Amino acid sequence: MESIATNIEEIREQITAACIEAGRDPAEVRLIAVSKTHPASLVREAFDAGQIEFGESYVQEFLEKHEDPLLEELGIEWHFIGHLQSNKIRSIIGKVNLIHGIDKLSTAEELSKRAIQNNLQVDYLLEVNTSGETSKYGMAPDEVLSSAEALFTLPGITLRGLMTIASPDRAMAQEEFRHLRTLLETLKPISPDPSKLTELSMGMSGDFREAIHEGATMIRVGTAIFGWR
Ligand SMILES: *Cc1c(COP(=O)(O)O)cnc(C)c1O
Repeated sequence: MESIATNIEEIREQITAACIEAGRDPAEVRLIAVSKTHPASLVREAFDAGQIEFGESYVQEFLEKHEDPLLEELGIEWHFIGHLQSNKIRSIIGKVNLIHGIDKLSTAEELSKRAIQNNLQVDYLLEVNTSGETSKYGMAPDEVLSSAEALFTLPGITLRGLMTIASPDRAMAQEEFRHLRTLLETLKPISPDPSKLTELSMGMSGDFREAIHEGATMIRVGTAIFGWR
């Protein structure tokens, strides 16, 4: 395995190449380094190589890293990318820049309640199950559309876009990414502020090039930066 700094550099080059191929500006794609299961020392190594945004999937592990003296004062931008249960919201609220994995209206309602209690305005993404696999979290695309009006009226929280985890097969993944983008385009005209509804969190180590081709604005890369978990 190469060093983390080298891996990040290589991924940034691949992002740029994919953007050029897709006729996009590389500045439109944010790299989120997924550090779950890896220790704070490796997060630090990535940070020292210029990586600022990190993704974590498990509440307890996120809290430990968030409070780790190695990382605490650095100004890391944390993304919570895991499945989020309602009863865990209060422990992470205010500590993360963006929550990617809201997949129920009731969880969004709880997020809204906690945001108001804490006097915060909280950004979130809806997780969408674009593959239809029953093992996956996420709202069905139809459910997103039927819940949209209710979601848009919740105070204290702002829907910034959509997130998905695609099928392992790359051709299928590309279809699913396209589907997510179409869904975002469908939501924009009915949203109170379309200029805020811009994010597509899609693409991981194995499929971020396809995701960039389909309009990803955030890719979540773990293994290709930190090695196998
Ligand atoms: C673990 C994880 C990733 C990173 O996956 P890699 O294949 O290691 O790049 C991305 N998104 C989510 C939601 C994850 O849980």
